[in-house]
Amino acid sequence: MSLLREPLLLLSRSRTVKKLVSTLPVSSGIVRNYVPGETTATAVDATARLVADGLTATLDFLGEDTLDAEQAEVTAAAYLALLKQLSAAGLQRHAEVSVKLSAIGQALPDTGHKIALENARTICRAARNAGTTVTLDMEDHTTTDATLATLRDLRKDFPETGAVVQAYLHRTEADCRALTHEGSRVRLCKGAYNEPSSVAFQDRIEVDKSYVRCLKVLLAGQGYPMIATHDPRMVEIASSLASRYGRSQGTYEFQMLYGIRPEEQKRLASSGETVRVYLPYGEEWYGYLMRRLAERPKNVRFFLRSLISKK
Ligand SMILES: Cc1cc2nc3c(=O)[nH]c(=O)nc-3n(C[C@H](O)[C@H](O)[C@H](O)COP(=O)(O)OP(=O)(O)OC[C@H]3O[C@@H](n4cnc5c(N)ncnc54)[C@H](O)[C@@H]3O)c2cc1C
Repeated sequence: MSLLREPLLLLSRSRTVKKLVSTLPVSSGIVRNYVPGETTATAVDATARLVADGLTATLDFLGEDTLDAEQAEVTAAAYLALLKQLSAAGLQRHAEVSVKLSAIGQALPDTGHKIALENARTICRAARNAGTTVTLDMEDHTTTDATLATLRDLRKDFPETGAVVQAYLHRTEADCRALTHEGSRVRLCKGAYNEPSSVAFQDRIEVDKSYVRCLKVLLAGQGYPMIATHDPRMVEIASSLASRYGRSQGTYEFQMLYGIRPEEQKRLASSGETVRVYLPYGEEWYGYLMRRLAERPKNVRFFLRSLISKK
């Protein structure tokens, strides 16, 4: 893995660096590459543009690691407003939402699990009323058990709620097996956090091998796999495994992040695949941007130049 990956991921949690970097306007090139804007209206407009290109979307109101119950409620309310606007724009069949439990209270001491579950329930109910679904993003490994427990609770009333698993964790192949039942929507990604070797593969090749093992489990199972990767090899392997397991297009989907390989997103969609673009928006773009830079250290020079010129 790149030498810059670990320091960038450590910085993604630094409040001091966050203050400095957040002085960049969202319109600056490097931020705008990955985040279309700060308001619900810009997010809905960006969704409409994706849909016009034959794509679907999952929207993330940016924010994470909140230690403030009021902020958690503000985030939940932002999702309700978003769902209303997606529905008013007639986009609900093409757009769902992605939620980080740490943004809606999971990290609060003592009552975190309960508060996050209640907020997630409210969002799931609003999503169902609007005619769409929710996927629970997966964060660092210290939250995996709690997030899967919340998912199980939510699925009692909202079985359509999507799960996320990260191929870099040793445990994930087993988690995939537990999540392959009918109707189970599961996003498989490589994983974006800085994880120790006690829980995660460190070598890129080992992560890729794990990704393929997990793909096999999910595509051979009864659920709805959501294959989240920009890696051309993983996309090719997923396509051939899908035909090997007799999966027709539409019984699984590809997912990519907003602004990354947009031409490939359109190519896959025009070949008949369902392609969902993860679209983050809002003022709290710092942690998200740092994780994207950690995946693409080539962009760090461009980022530093933006920071100095504030453009
Ligand atoms: C829809 C979606 C949802 C996700 N949700 C989660 C989640 O809930 N939890 C989580 O931990 N992670 C999540 N991730 C992030 C994921 O775990 C990886 O960190 C990220 O997708 C990079 O891995 P990759 O599979 O694209 O492969 P990589 O091997 O990292 O990249 C493959 C190729 O993709 C291109 N690429 C990758 N990253 C960038 C970039 N930042 N800028 C420009 N080009 C790039 C490059 O061409 C690169 O060679 C999500 C990813 C996607 C696509």
